[in-house]
Amino acid sequence: MPDFWFRLILPVAFSSLFALMLWGLLSAVYALWFMLLVLLILMGRHARQLHKLGLWLNDARPETIPEAGGIWDDVFSQLYRMVKKHIQTKQKLAAELQHMEQATAALPEGVIILNDANRIEWFNPIAQQHFFLDTNQDVMQDITYLVRQPEFIAYLHESDFSKPLMMRPARHDDMVLSIKLIPYGGDKRLLISRDITQFERIESMRRDFVANVSHELRSPLTVVNGFVENLRDMPDLGHDSARHILKLMAEQTRRMENLVADLLTLSRLENNQNPLLEEVVDIVELLDQVFRGGQLLSGGKHDLRLEVTGATKISGNLGELRSAFENLLGNAIRYTPEGGTILLRWFERGGQPVFSVEDSGIGIPAQHIPRLTERFYRIDSSRSRETGGTGLGLAIVKHIAMRHQAKLEIFSEEGKGSIFSLVFPARRQVA
Ligand code: ADP
Repeated sequence: MPDFWFRLILPVAFSSLFALMLWGLLSAVYALWFMLLVLLILMGRHARQLHKLGLWLNDARPETIPEAGGIWDDVFSQLYRMVKKHIQTKQKLAAELQHMEQATAALPEGVIILNDANRIEWFNPIAQQHFFLDTNQDVMQDITYLVRQPEFIAYLHESDFSKPLMMRPARHDDMVLSIKLIPYGGDKRLLISRDITQFERIESMRRDFVANVSHELRSPLTVVNGFVENLRDMPDLGHDSARHILKLMAEQTRRMENLVADLLTLSRLENNQNPLLEEVVDIVELLDQVFRGGQLLSGGKHDLRLEVTGATKISGNLGELRSAFENLLGNAIRYTPEGGTILLRWFERGGQPVFSVEDSGIGIPAQHIPRLTERFYRIDSSRSRETGGTGLGLAIVKHIAMRHQAKLEIFSEEGKGSIFSLVFPARRQVA
């Protein structure tokens, strides 16, 4: 600063000295004219610099800062530093803002910032999808005009947001959202929306599954209970009647036993910590055993055939493959009336090993085929139960197929018969 005053006063001081000399040598008038001239020149220079400053301030960029001399040099260089710093701060803030926006855009949750009047101040792309928001129109819109479900509006007016709200968006009723409001910064609120459709689906499958298992177990238990009461209340029951009741009871307990065994198999197959233990499986030997088991089950009521061609060694789990093959053959026997034919085949199709069971049984109406592998899905429940079915057989087969990267194909025609095939990947073949 002292330098500033020195540079400001120096020309005036020199000029005043010169004017004093003029006064001494010539006259006071010359001295005054001289001083007037000097002051006019100084004023003109300052006015020029001020004009340059004014022009530059209209679009203050460091690279266009004007050249200046004297005391204006300091002013311009300070302005230059200020503008440069300001631009750097602005760039830093813009980068941070962009960074924040990228981070919130990458969030798997929808985020909406609401003001105290429930107007939308900002939202991320996921929130845009959840609530069908429009970036150009919906900023500063009242959210209750856009999301009109009464439960949502009621939730906005609550004061306790510790529990999230579950709701289905109006234009997406197959989606389930979990919504949570988080107050912040005094009067603002953060609305977080999470797509929990998958979670809800699994939860409802779990509920259905528990209900189904309970129902499946309760029916035979009720029957057994009834028989036990009969036996207790009728001590004089004849030997034959008692034997008959015991036989029926044994059937029901076997049904429960089968169900529990299938449930255990399913849970073992579904357990991620239970990887497939692979070995080289001799298909000829395995199919021979399965075929003989089938003959016993059929009791000579069907025309059972076995055909094996192509490579007969694959890499897989013997126990699981046996279970899948037995399930498919068992179904064919149970759903084929007496006298029908059942063909068990092992062959190669386009380099892929295929196991198939073809029956001339009752067949399956087309609309049921996509759901057959769901647990407890049955077309005719009484037929399934009468023949000892648990409703879990095809679910087990599907899991075993998945563990072997195989595909379960089902072709069927109502009244004519069905073909169930397991198509294994070519790489499972062992030379
Ligand atoms: P279940 O124990 O009831 O047989 P599955 O899961 O093995 O259970 O089969 C599901 C349903 O698929 C059966 O209830 C039956 O309606 C149908 N199904 C399976 N295999 C056949 C088949 N070979 N022919 C006709 N229907 C079949």
